[in-house]
Amino acid sequence: MATVSFQQVNKQYPGGFQAVRDLNLEIADGEFVVLVGPSGCGKSTTLRMLAGLEEITSGEIRIGARRVNEVEPGQRDIAMVFQNYALYPHMTVRQNLAFGLKMRRTPKAEIARRTGETAETLGITALLDRKPRELSGGQRQRVALGRAIVRQPQVFLFDEPLSNLDAKLRVQMRAEIAALHQRLGTTMIYVTHDQVEAMTLGQRIVVMDGGVVQQAAAPLELYRQPANRFVAGFIGSPPMNFIRGTLSAGRFAFDGRELPLNDAATDDGSAILGIRPEDLLAEGSGPTLGPAALEVVEQMGHESLGYFRLAGQRCAMRLAADAGLTPGDMVEPRLRPGAWRLFADDASGKRL
Ligand code: ATP
Repeated sequence: MATVSFQQVNKQYPGGFQAVRDLNLEIADGEFVVLVGPSGCGKSTTLRMLAGLEEITSGEIRIGARRVNEVEPGQRDIAMVFQNYALYPHMTVRQNLAFGLKMRRTPKAEIARRTGETAETLGITALLDRKPRELSGGQRQRVALGRAIVRQPQVFLFDEPLSNLDAKLRVQMRAEIAALHQRLGTTMIYVTHDQVEAMTLGQRIVVMDGGVVQQAAAPLELYRQPANRFVAGFIGSPPMNFIRGTLSAGRFAFDGRELPLNDAATDDGSAILGIRPEDLLAEGSGPTLGPAALEVVEQMGHESLGYFRLAGQRCAMRLAADAGLTPGDMVEPRLRPGAWRLFADDASGKRL
């Protein structure tokens, strides 16, 4: 069983910087978990601790039933794929794929069989006798993936493996990694700062900020039920709109306007209203934010995005592609009933 478990894990770098704080995370056998967050949030440190490339300051990490705190990286039965490929430049693709198996004294015939199968799986059979410098970025990343697969590890770790690829190739490789997970069914842990990558790949997403897990949930739950303002703002593009105001007897007042939210469950006081761009409708019967002039209209093809200013802050709403609206046109954005969220107007930003 390749479950992975972090129990009360902390990481303090020499010098005292706390990169990961009180991490508790249980990953199921065969699960695809994505760690996501802004630069410096501690996601790579978390992955590197699991790989054994970074010591943990306190707590416990288990792979399966085995406590691995003191286990050497090479003995953890994991394979890691990095952003910079980390291929051996002087070896051919075939030799790169075979290297790990050779080190483990795998019989020659088995090396040949597994190398061949892996190359087939990744569509790189024709490249087996080339050197890394004779490959494109996408092909190199495929070889790096192959080097991980060929070892048949218990757990795959990915550290921003697609960051060096261009946008089109990134989307293609993303789908390939998802397909690979379906085929192999192996536990995969994937680090990225890209929320789209996280949403499309992860069965479960762990959002980190400041070394602390902000929320761990399935993609849609994260999107619809964000635990706090950070998660709400991080997941979704364009991001959720936030409006600061005051809640009183179920009415939300801001900038001299008032919205009947009919929210009796939330305590009166200052709060932040969060609304996703697609939950602002150009028409309908929901409460309106009041008239606003469009500043920018972005045509996306299947829809367009309209930007306007509310209480001094830029907000976005989705418009029909053929709405025919241009900057300067007035809109009256309405809330989709029940589709807004309220957050505490304090450092916690927790959902109210
Ligand atoms: P990025 O996406 O930029 O790689 P990250 O979320 O992966 O960010 P980490 O690499 O885990 O972040 O780093 C977390 C924090 O720990 C950062 O503030 C970083 O500066 C700090 N840090 C990382 N490595 C060390 C180190 N060897 N010594 C001291 N501080 C470190």
